[in-house]
Amino acid sequence: MTKHSAFSAEDAAPAQPARRFTSYPPASCRTAAAQAATGSWLDAAARRAEHDDWMEKHPSALAEFEAVLGAAKGKQVVMFLDYDGTLSPIVKDPDSAVMTDEMREAVRGVAERFPTAIVSGRCRDKVFDFVRLAELYYAGSHGMDIKGPTAQSKHAKAKAEAVLCQPASEFLPVIDEVCRALTASTAAIPGATVENNKFCLSVHFRCVQEEKWRALEDLVRSVLKDYPDLLLTKGRKVLEIRPSIKWDKGNALQFLLEAQGFADSNNVFPIYIGDDRTDEDAFKVLRSMGQGIGILVSKIPKETSASYSLQEPSEVKEFLHKLVKSKQRD
Ligand SMILES: [Mg+2]
Repeated sequence: MTKHSAFSAEDAAPAQPARRFTSYPPASCRTAAAQAATGSWLDAAARRAEHDDWMEKHPSALAEFEAVLGAAKGKQVVMFLDYDGTLSPIVKDPDSAVMTDEMREAVRGVAERFPTAIVSGRCRDKVFDFVRLAELYYAGSHGMDIKGPTAQSKHAKAKAEAVLCQPASEFLPVIDEVCRALTASTAAIPGATVENNKFCLSVHFRCVQEEKWRALEDLVRSVLKDYPDLLLTKGRKVLEIRPSIKWDKGNALQFLLEAQGFADSNNVFPIYIGDDRTDEDAFKVLRSMGQGIGILVSKIPKETSASYSLQEPSEVKEFLHKLVKSKQRD
């Protein structure tokens, strides 16, 4: 049979009688639509169940505020606050991540009543420029650059202006060198920005097209292969590069408790609030201490060592207000 005859045979097949639809859409479409609707309903139900299950394990620190207070009763509360995504919303341009005046007042109120530290991946000076409260402790560069309050604070044990801890100071020249190399090599990827956080670096890709994320990570890794003493981790739309020394936000928390005179104290109740993977180190320290609580800021279920959750910075502000009010009740 020739191709032509095969074609002709198909062509010559008896014509099907025209289908008549008694209703629209046809039954087959209705079935597909119903299946799609059922599928998305099941997906939504599964997501809701997952969320409910997660909330049971990590309840809202606002809903459970009285339980938090009960656990802290008779103990010295010490506050630790991450900055980005905790006190300020995550924004496209990291230089625009300002905190609101209301949030600043909430933090000021807490700092008047409890020793309070900001623990951030940012350069310490930059996070200070955002927060602008001199009565706080600041731990920048993921805790690798810690300084005491520069203003009079009844909670400050250390001398004002004193830099308390810089465990990665020998890495300063290499961080600067890698910053220059990364800035040059990532210039070809629109939207990528390299932030020098003094003792560590951040490569932000919030403004990079998703199909370029892989290429950006490959570029960063290719620069870092010449620097085996630096470690790459991923956060929320950011690649973090830091010295591979064993020093993280958890160590910073322990260091600050010690600096404030609470080493080995059973009478202290640290509260750490953060939103990202690097905050997990601090949550783990609190778990292992068996003291205080970690609060993860997240709207979606995430693997975490935190005990409680808050959805977003506005809830963090409300939690801080409640804490201030509870102290006024005492
Ligand atoms: Mg954060």
